[in-house]
Amino acid sequence: MTDAEKKSSTTQKVTTQNEASPKTKRSTKKASSTKSDSAKKSTAKKTIAKKRPVKKSTAQKLYQRLMTKDEIEAFFTILQRENPHPTTELNYSSTFELLVAVLLSAQSTDVGVNKATVHLFKAANKPDTMYALGEEKIRDYIKTLGLYNGKAANLYQTCHILATQYNNEVPDTREALEALPGVGRKTANVILNTAFRQPTMAVDTHIFRLSNRTGLAPGKDVLEVEQELLKRIPKPFLLDAHHWLILHGRYTCVARKPRCGACVVYDQCQFLEKTE
Ligand code: SF4
Repeated sequence: MTDAEKKSSTTQKVTTQNEASPKTKRSTKKASSTKSDSAKKSTAKKTIAKKRPVKKSTAQKLYQRLMTKDEIEAFFTILQRENPHPTTELNYSSTFELLVAVLLSAQSTDVGVNKATVHLFKAANKPDTMYALGEEKIRDYIKTLGLYNGKAANLYQTCHILATQYNNEVPDTREALEALPGVGRKTANVILNTAFRQPTMAVDTHIFRLSNRTGLAPGKDVLEVEQELLKRIPKPFLLDAHHWLILHGRYTCVARKPRCGACVVYDQCQFLEKTE
């Protein structure tokens, strides 16, 4: 092969490699077409997705609108008129007994807690004497309650801390209370409010439901509801609001079928699905 022939052969090879064969061209076209189709489909899917109705979620508003300032004022004025001195339904005769009762009340009714504490408090009603009972005996007294194993362990340790670090007393600060075993934000709020008369708001299941239903203080979690309630409830009602709301939620604005027909704050409530 001459030099000229060799050059010609090399040029042809390079040309052949650089050009797409008709088959490759078809594949590319097909690929490009497939990509374009899939892009179209994807856009179409997005369009369809956008048009789909928004699914109902738990964040959906249950109330028509937020209660106004005047409605909130009227709401609590009525609850106060109906029950001028609201209080907890847990039986207790000292701050320590209240702390014990609230600590035991998680996932238990107040009636159930009272049945257990009537015997427990007879056996011991101070941190040191309750600690002296021992964890096993404490467990025996409260075994009718849910989660009694964990509650007995927490109560036993809490008694030890109160006896050894707080001179057998219950501390009056949130920080110290929440450091006790079994005492969370809600329990601390109850103690601060009921025993130490601080304007705190312990949000339980009843208050959470009622606040979201009525448009009083909606929120996605208990902390948000707590903060909204503290912001929106007029000061003169703040100290007792916690009890009015719990009692109203427990007996009237009940979970499944609220008793709207018998509700004293029907006119102020903004719930969209009031019952007769
Ligand atoms: S019982 Fe009915 S009317 Fe009363 S607060 Fe509850 S939802 Fe509103």
